[in-house]
Amino acid sequence: MSPFINEPVTDFTLPSNREASEKASVAVRAQLGREYDLIIAGKHVKTEAKLKSLNPSRPSEVVGIHQKATAEMANEAVHAAHAYFDEYAATPVRDRIEMASRAAAIIRERKIEFDAWLVYEAGKTWSEADGDVSEAIDFLEYYARQMLRMSQPDPLVQLPGEKDEMVYLPLGTGVIIPPWNFPLAIMAGMSVAALVTGNTIVIKPSSDTPTIAAKFAEVLLKAGFPEKSFSLLVGSGALIGDLLVQHPKTRFVSFTGSRDVGLRINELAAKPQKGQIWIKRVVAEMGGKDAIIVDSEADIDSAVQGVAGSAFGYQGQKCSACSRAIVDESIYDDFLKKLSLEVSRMQVGASDNLANYMGPVINEKARDSILSYIETGKKEGRLICGGGATGEDGYFIQPTVIADIGSKDRIFQEEIFGPVLAVAKARDFEHALELANDSEYGLTGAVFTGNPQKIERAKRRFFVGNLYINRKCTGAMVGAHPFGGFNMSGTDSKAGGPDYLLQFVQAKSIAEKVL
Ligand code: NAD
Repeated sequence: MSPFINEPVTDFTLPSNREASEKASVAVRAQLGREYDLIIAGKHVKTEAKLKSLNPSRPSEVVGIHQKATAEMANEAVHAAHAYFDEYAATPVRDRIEMASRAAAIIRERKIEFDAWLVYEAGKTWSEADGDVSEAIDFLEYYARQMLRMSQPDPLVQLPGEKDEMVYLPLGTGVIIPPWNFPLAIMAGMSVAALVTGNTIVIKPSSDTPTIAAKFAEVLLKAGFPEKSFSLLVGSGALIGDLLVQHPKTRFVSFTGSRDVGLRINELAAKPQKGQIWIKRVVAEMGGKDAIIVDSEADIDSAVQGVAGSAFGYQGQKCSACSRAIVDESIYDDFLKKLSLEVSRMQVGASDNLANYMGPVINEKARDSILSYIETGKKEGRLICGGGATGEDGYFIQPTVIADIGSKDRIFQEEIFGPVLAVAKARDFEHALELANDSEYGLTGAVFTGNPQKIERAKRRFFVGNLYINRKCTGAMVGAHPFGGFNMSGTDSKAGGPDYLLQFVQAKSIAEKVL
C-alpha cells in the first residue's frame, strides 16, 4: 500500500468548488424528507414509530425520516452480529483492508455530496463539513494501513526448539455509539476500526444525525462489507442504548460522546449479565473544557486567531473547542480588545450559505442550555461580545465572550458545548498552568508563547491528551495528532494513531515445540 497521506480539504473560495457545492446542495435538497429503514444484518426494517431529523438552520425542514428501533430489534441485531462473528473473523485480512480502502474511495468520490448532508443535518458550514468528511476518509485509509501492520507483528524471541509467535484476534461483537458533532468521521472511524480488525458491529448513531449514518451504511455495503457484518439501529439512546450495552453477547463498546453518558455506559458494561463469559471492553471518549494559555511573551495577533478559531469554529461544538482562554495580566486588556474585534466580524447564519462563518447549534435543547449558560456567565463575569440568540428561526447563537471569570465559576468548569468562551486572568505562566489544569477534563489545550522554557514546562505540566503549541487547539489530523483525552475526557484511546486498533483485538501467544 502507498504511504498514508491526509486527504486535502476542499477550497471553497475556488469558483469550481463553489459551483460543485451548489450542485450538491440542489441534489441533496431534492432528497430531503425521504424515509430510511433500519438495517438488521442486511434486512431492511420499518417501524410504526418514526424519528425525524431536522435542519438546524431551518428546523421546519425535515432532513430524513427514520424508523425507531425497539428493544427486540436491538436484541436481534446483537444476536445476528454474534452469530456471524466467527465467519466474518475468518475473512482474509487482505479482503478487510481492501473493503476499508474501497469505502474511503467511495466517500472521496461522493465528497461534496457528503459535505452537503453534513451542512443540512449537522448544521456545519461547508468548510467544517469538508473537514469532517476528509477526516472520515483519513480514518479509513489510515486504519487499513494499520491493519496491514498489525497482521505482520514484530517477531518474538525464539526459544531453542520452539516456534514462538503472537497473533491479534478480533474481540467479537461491538456496539458503536458515535456523537452528532462529527457524525461521519467519528462514526466511520470507530465502525471501520472494528470491522477491519474482524469484528461484527451494531451501529447506533445519534438521533440528530441518522441520515448521515444511513448514507454511510450504503457506503459500507458498496465497499463489499458483508451485509451481516453490521447493523444500523436508529433509536432512543436510553431505550436501545442501555440494552445494546448490557447485552451478554456484546463484547465491546466504542463510545464517543458526553461524560455523563460515557460514565453510565462504563458502569452498565462493567456488570456481567447472565450467560456473559467476558469482561466487556469499553472505549469511552468524552467531553472537554479545553484551555488556551496566552502568555506575556505570546504573539497576540496569532493568539487571537488561534483562540477565536478554536472557540467558535462549528459554533464551539467540538470536544476540542477552546472554552477557556487563560491570559497573562500584562496583555489581558490588549488581548480582549483584539479578540472582541475579531469575533464581532464573524458572520452567523444558515450553514448552507458559504458567506457564513458560523451556523446554528444542533437542536432546540442545546440552544436553550447554551443560552442559560450565557445568562449564568453574565452574572459570573463581564460580557465582552455576543450574549444571546440572533433572533432568527434556526438555532443561532452569537459568538459570546465573557471575561473576568474565576476558576470556581460554572462557565470555567462545566462543558457548555456551544459558542461561549470564558476568559480568565493569570498572574504569570505558573498561575496560567495551574488554572488550565483546574478541571476534571483533560482533552486538548494550547499555549501561545515565544519562550522555549515555558514551552518545555507546558509539555511536562499541562495535563491534556492533545497539547498544541503556538497554534489552535482544534483540527487534529489523523496520523499526525492521535486523539484522546485524560481524566473525565475519556479512555485516551488515541483515535487516528498507531495504537488505536489495539482496542479492537486481543493478542494470542502461541508456542509450538519443533518436532
Ligand atoms: P451524548 O453523550 O449525548 O450522545 C452520544 C451518543 O450516545 C449518541 O449516539 C446518543 O444517542 C447515545 N446515547 C445517549 N444515551 C445513551 C445510553 N443510555 N446508552 C447508550 N447510548 C446512549 O453526546 P452528544 O451530544 O452526541 O455529543 C457531544 C459530546 O461528545 C460532548 O460532550 C463532546 O465533548 C463529546 N465528544 C467527545 C469527543 C472525543 O473524542 N473525546 C469527540 C466528539 C464529541
